[in-house]
Amino acid sequence: QAKQDGRLQYRFFEPAMQEKAQARRLLEVDLRQALAADEFELHYQPVVDIRTRHVTGFEALVRWRNETRGLVLPDAFIAHAEDTNIIEALGLWVLTRACTDARTWTEDRKVAVNLSSVQFTKGNLVQSLVHILQMTGLAPARLELEITERVLLQDTDDVLRVLHQIRQLGISIAMDDFGQGYSSLSYLVKFPFNKVKIDRSFVVAADEEGSGSAIIRAVAQLCDSLDITTTVEGVETQAQLDAMRRLGCREAQGYLFSPAVPLQDIPALIDAIQAV
Ligand code: C2E
Ligand code: MG
Ligand code: MG
Ligand code: MG
Repeated sequence: QAKQDGRLQYRFFEPAMQEKAQARRLLEVDLRQALAADEFELHYQPVVDIRTRHVTGFEALVRWRNETRGLVLPDAFIAHAEDTNIIEALGLWVLTRACTDARTWTEDRKVAVNLSSVQFTKGNLVQSLVHILQMTGLAPARLELEITERVLLQDTDDVLRVLHQIRQLGISIAMDDFGQGYSSLSYLVKFPFNKVKIDRSFVVAADEEGSGSAIIRAVAQLCDSLDITTTVEGVETQAQLDAMRRLGCREAQGYLFSPAVPLQDIPALIDAIQAV
């Protein structure tokens, strides 16, 4: 009887697992084709100075426009692109596209690009950056690279060396999703960040005037004293924006201002945000 149950279970699990493996293989094939067929797009979300409402820059967020899948968001494919090494080529494409697009913007607005931890371990990131800046003609001061703590948890000496090389090129570095996971305050002293992006979860937590706000205030104060800009992510309401301002954050990003938009919508978006 037990044996039969086991076999039944086995029979129920097997097709599901096969389907999952099959779906993953299909995704990998589709992702490789997507690069060749130029199906990736960058959308841009504005970063706003809380006091002045000046749009200081845009974060490039990748999307995948596929005929059968529709517009696919990064959470559905970045991890898989990392597992299959597609991220190397995709990462270079994103950097090149973002720098090219930013060249078309008037004024000195920055473009922020998200990097995968894989881009630190495979290929030569610094060399690629030099090449892409040369090719696109973007001033290094206008490029900002966003990294998460996953990068910092890798072999720290190597990462530290690369981060310093990036800074020497004149490129800025932002710590993304700060407060998610183990993010420790010591990172802010140890690594050469220009900016810290406070994770969306704290904005939500700060709504209740609880521990969330105490942490944001402490991080904002520490960052000020280290000459690091604080940007708060995921601001959706005016009340949240007011709270973040009171807590000492410098910049904000979130649906209150705008979601990520296609390149051609940027001029109108800047006008709308700065006109208020
Ligand atoms: P992230 O870098 O932390 O980007 C912020 C995410 O929050 C974006 O999701 C953005 O659309 C979303 N967001 C912005 N404002 C709000 C808000 O007010 N409320 C809510 N609920 N969400 C908001 P998206 O575009 O789906 O990207 C998800 C993640 O995918 C990014 O998180 C980033 O880690 C990764 N990613 C995006 N583009 C790239 C890329 O080119 N390369 C790599 N390696 N990762 C990328
Ligand atoms: Mg980011
Ligand atoms: Mg983030
Ligand atoms: Mg995130």
